[in-house]
This record gives sequence, structure tokens and C-alpha cells, in this order.
Amino acid sequence: MSALTWLETADRTSPWPGATVVVAGLGTSGFAAADALCELGAHVVVVDEGTSDALADRAGLLEHLGAQVRLGPGASAALDDRADLVVVSPGWHPDAALLLAAGARGVPIWGDVELAWRLMFPDRVVPWLGVTGTNGKTTTTQMLASMLAAAGHRVATVGNIGRPVIEAINEGGYDVFAVELSSFQLHWSQTLRLRSAAVLNLHPDHLEWYARPGATEADLMRDYGADKAAIFRGVEAACVYNVAEPATRAMVEEADVTEGARAIGFTTGIPGVGMLGVVDDLLVDRAFIDQRASSALPLASLADVRPAAPHNVANALAAAALARSFGVPSGAVAEGLQRLVPGGHRIATVEVVDGVTYVDDSKATNPHAADASLRAFGTIVWVAGGQAKGTHFDDLVAAHASRLRGAVLFGTDRAELAGALARRAPGVPVVVLDGADRAVMGEAVRRAATLARPGDTVLLAPGCASLDMWSGYDARGDDFAAAVRALEPAGNPEGEAA
Ligand code: ADP
Repeated sequence: MSALTWLETADRTSPWPGATVVVAGLGTSGFAAADALCELGAHVVVVDEGTSDALADRAGLLEHLGAQVRLGPGASAALDDRADLVVVSPGWHPDAALLLAAGARGVPIWGDVELAWRLMFPDRVVPWLGVTGTNGKTTTTQMLASMLAAAGHRVATVGNIGRPVIEAINEGGYDVFAVELSSFQLHWSQTLRLRSAAVLNLHPDHLEWYARPGATEADLMRDYGADKAAIFRGVEAACVYNVAEPATRAMVEEADVTEGARAIGFTTGIPGVGMLGVVDDLLVDRAFIDQRASSALPLASLADVRPAAPHNVANALAAAALARSFGVPSGAVAEGLQRLVPGGHRIATVEVVDGVTYVDDSKATNPHAADASLRAFGTIVWVAGGQAKGTHFDDLVAAHASRLRGAVLFGTDRAELAGALARRAPGVPVVVLDGADRAVMGEAVRRAATLARPGDTVLLAPGCASLDMWSGYDARGDDFAAAVRALEPAGNPEGEAA
């Protein structure tokens, strides 16, 4: 048990020099956490099982600031006897030996986001507008930030999106944060109180993280959902939910929010009172308006949403709900959407070759994302595979079987996908590639090209994580794009008049 009772209400002004803090994980967020704690004078011990050059560089910088850093296999096997607090990086499994030891000894465990929240007080407080959900977090957070910026706010885009919140707090000068929060970060957060928060959707993903002996898949989904729902705890202005997903509404109903907070739904259909939605080709607001003056306020046109796909309209509406709850005027919602440059590897058209459009949605790393992606096109040659993370594909395949020209599969869990196709789309030609390194993508694209006909889309929407063969979804998407560019067009053979 930590002897430091002040930790329960700790902020920047607490007596940190008397505390030993173990920082678990030396990624971007672990580094930022350790750096901030060193600056406050805490005794910092950083552990990470890795040995890469990047880790060694970060370790060097932190040692210079007085931290003790242990890298390499076994570094996190035991919890330092002096530990008063553990700050854990997202992704650490709750069953990691160090975390189990902390739990057994009563040492509090905070996520990097929890630490950031605490260190904002008392004098660096900035309101947070937060986004979570299985899919669409990054896109929605970027849309939100763009709307806030268009309204003249000094906004930092932080959290799971790549920039640690703590970094922006220490930099200062912001009047609002657009925060992407993962279920892992929410799992290790106890005292966040967001101004407004949105849960976009909830579908199976990362279930291996929640696995425990004897638990059913329904149990794991419940745990995953409970972590996502934590984003609504204490919300002050608006809890934004997806009308199409009653589970997200239930989260709002069950949340212990600040009095006066409103439940705001978003829908890609016609919105009811108190919602945002779509009427004709307009995104409209029926929540943050003077009900006596008008029944719906146009915010933006559907054409302002890019890439144009139904799930992305949902993302734009969720972002708009958060922005409107913070007082962003309607014009800035449209301007924010228009200014936004869509992120790479998210339904990005690579090239049209011989009348076939090649689209990179490498970021579709679970079946729900792949579903949104497949929905956005007509006849498709589907390129998929990787690590399924405990998810299944039968429903996904059944929903799209009639539009599949063919499928090309690779990666660790290719048999899981092949099984779903055999069961649910038996007439669809399937190519299964056994290649175990990234060169498999070249072969996948060539085989997809032979299956496709003019007018089709060859869609990389893997439905799986990429880490079996790539360093991340971006590297996987880059390989896809390179393979597409290497295709030899058959359209204009040599010697034929142009
Ligand atoms: P996240 O940050 O949650 O991973 P992204 O915005 O990076 O989400 O999008 C990841 C992928 O999820 C996209 O490439 C797209 O295939 C899919 N996607 C995006 N938004 C949605 C949504 N609202 N519903 C379902 N799938 C979505």
C-alpha cells in the first residue's frame, strides 16, 4: 500500500519529490509522463521490455533528467519495492506481472491520460472534448479540432491520436483540447471529467486484451463497453451518442454525469429534437438551437464530408455535436470540414488501372471498420487479412457477399477469413496467400488485379491488425499503394495507336 495519502487528490502542487513513480512503457506517452514527473521532482523509475534504438535514445534523455531507466527482457518483471504509484502506457495488458504486483500491494495505477488530467490542476486547466468508440476516433477528433480552429479556438489535438495530452498541458497556450481516448486509456483513468464526450460505436475489437479464464465473449464485450462508457463519467455539457447504436445511448443513461449535462444523439437519418442528423443533403442541428426561432439549423452540406461515405457522415455529426456543445457557430462547422485534409490509409484512392479503382483503407483493422468500408463501394475485390484479435467475420462476409467479385487473403488469421467466406459466400473466388513477410502484398495486388473487372474496386480493408508482417497499418497501406503503382496497365499495349 502506498503510504502517500495525498496521491488520491494529487495535482501539480503535491509533494512529488517524496514519491517514487514507476512508469511502465517508454513509448511516446511513457516518455512524456516520465519527463513531466522528473520536472516535478519525483523519483522516476521507467521500465520497458524493449531494446530498440528509439528506446535507448529516450532512456538517455530521461537519465539526464535524473530518472532510472531499465530496458530489455525482464525489465518489468518485478515492481520496485519503493513504488508509490505506477503510470502505465496504453496497451499494457492488465495481467502484466508489474500491474498484478501493484494491484496486490495496493499501489495505485494511473494511465498516462489520468496523470495528464491530474497535472492540469490547479493552474493549467483546459476543457476537454473527448472522442472514443471502436472506429472513427481519429477522423472524428480531427474533424472536431478543425471545427474548433475554424471558430478561432486555440486547440490541441491530443491523446491516442499520437500527441500525449501532458505535452500540450506543459506547452500551454491552448483554450480547448480535442482528445482521442482509447478503451485502454479510459480503463486506467479514474478522475477525468470531460466538458463533452462522444462514444461513436461499440463493436468487437481488442477482445484479447480483456481475455481472462472462464470469461465468455459476451463478458469481454461488457468489459470493453464499460471502459468506453467511462468517458461519460462526470461530463459537464454534452454526452454524445449514436442513435443507430442503442448500446451507446445506454452508456449515457447509466452514466453519473454532472447535473445539467445533456444527452445528444447523432443520426445519418432525419434527427429528432435534441439530435443532429441529415435532412436532404444537409447536416443539421436540432439540439443546440433556439427551439422557438427554428426547428433545425443547417450546419454543412454532405459534400463537405470527405471521404464521402456514410460512416464518415456519422463521424462529422459526432464532431459537430461536440463542437456545438462548446459554442462553435454553424459556419465554423462547415469551414472545419472543408479545411480538413483526410488522413492517409482511410479510404484513400491510390489509382485507377484498366478501369479498376484501387482503394487503401489499411486503417480498417477490425470487422466493423471493414464493414463501413465495404459498404462505401459497388462491386469489390476484397484484399484482407492479418491479426484478427479474437474477432470473427461471418456476419461481415454475409452482409457483402453479393457484391464481392473475389477475395485475396493473407496474414496470420487468413484461415479465419477463408472459413467465413467458404461458409457465407461459397460462390466467391478466394485466393489465400501463405507468404509470411510483407512481400505478400505485391502478390495480393497482382492476384486482385486478375480477379477485377472494369468498374470494380480493389479494396484493401483488412479487418485485421497489421503487426504480423508490418510495423503498422500505414506501412501495410504504403506497400499496397506501391504494388498498385507497379501494376502494368494492359489497356494500351505497345504499338497500338494512342
Ligand atoms: P480509429 O481512430 O477509431 O481507429 P479512424 O478514424 O482512424 O478510427 O478510422 C479507422 C477506420 O475505421 C477507417 O479506415 C474506416 O474503415 C473505419 N471507420 C471510420 N469511421 C467509422 C465509423 N463511424 N463506423 C465504422 N467504421 C468507421
